[in-house]
Amino acid sequence: MGRKFFVGGNWKCNGTSEEIKILLSLLNAGQVPSGDVVAQNCWVKKGGAFTGEISAEMLANLRIPWVIIGHSERRALFNESNEFVGDKIAYALSQGLKVIACVGESLEQRESGSTIEVVAAQTKAIADKISKWSDVVLAYEPVWAIGTGKVATPAQAQEVHLELRNWLQKNISAEVASTTRIIYGGSVNGGNCKELGAQPDVDGFLVGGASLKAEFLDIIKAAEVKRNA
Ligand code: PEP
Repeated sequence: MGRKFFVGGNWKCNGTSEEIKILLSLLNAGQVPSGDVVAQNCWVKKGGAFTGEISAEMLANLRIPWVIIGHSERRALFNESNEFVGDKIAYALSQGLKVIACVGESLEQRESGSTIEVVAAQTKAIADKISKWSDVVLAYEPVWAIGTGKVATPAQAQEVHLELRNWLQKNISAEVASTTRIIYGGSVNGGNCKELGAQPDVDGFLVGGASLKAEFLDIIKAAEVKRNA
């Protein structure tokens, strides 16, 4: 079935021109293809009088193919609800963008045993608004692991990824379940990427902090663990 390994870098609100120059020369030296640029957010509907926002049309016009929607920082800091995230994803897809759609539970939710319920509700809110899954990559990002250095164990990641795949199978279709890439995000680094990437339902990563460092190359190369599996 062969889902292609996918690694996205999320620079967030970081980087001076000097820092980016250094990073790009490292990535170029590592021969990382530079074609697929990712934007971190876009407006929920057609552009207009929405100061500070960037519209899906603008991203498409700039030939930026991918957009990250539903990141926990957007959900928490900008009060983006599950429904709003679903609307954004549907609109971005309608404009020809591909979407990295983020879901994930807080520490409190994990400790209360509601992880699967939370990510299923977030995924359902997306599924309620879209029919085309071929341009969606689902990113499981436990909130407690983002930027904290506290990575999910490979077993924790695999468990949730498998549950998400089962959810897609039950609620969408067997084909969508087997072809949709489900990537992991949350304190991935050069040291932990291989073990995480070797899990059968982990199809790649969304990387924050480490995407600003040379070790991002090692994370991209973790795709090898699937090829050698
Ligand atoms: C993210 O912001 O999507 C993320 C996973 O961040 P970090 O890798 O720094 O935990």
